[in-house]
Amino acid sequence: MAIRKVVTSEDPILRKHSRKVEKFDERLWVLLDDMKDTMYKQEGVGLAAVQVGILKRVVVVDVGDGLLELINPEIIETSGEVCDVEGCLSVPGESGNVIRPEYVKIKAQNRDGVWRRYEGTGLKARCFCHEIDHLDGILYTDKVVKDITADDIKNNK
Ligand code: ZN
Repeated sequence: MAIRKVVTSEDPILRKHSRKVEKFDERLWVLLDDMKDTMYKQEGVGLAAVQVGILKRVVVVDVGDGLLELINPEIIETSGEVCDVEGCLSVPGESGNVIRPEYVKIKAQNRDGVWRRYEGTGLKARCFCHEIDHLDGILYTDKVVKDITADDIKNNK
């Protein structure tokens, strides 16, 4: 296990599409372990493989209720809409307001290649969308709604 370097938004790799994982082997497991260590070290709630320079559809997420390893994740259902503050380990020191679904259901394979379904609301739903966007070369900064402030959101709640 090792901490990997997180690439930042100047790096063009973040704009590339990640490839589907076909082999569920030891190389994948090492990547997952390293990504987990890197995410916790950086105090993030999610990390996509492209952020450590690997163009594979692999994501780790932990919003405080346990680690999820998501391979080839796909959104299968969403509902609602919520605007909240979002940041990214690849865009250090910045944050912005982004509209995301309030509820998201996804399917993904685990480290053994078994398909499973996961669902989340609020931060977890936001995290699923943010990380899956990374796999398609999309950064949250592409989606920032500049004219909504954190105070506006607080007042709407
Ligand atoms: Zn990110």
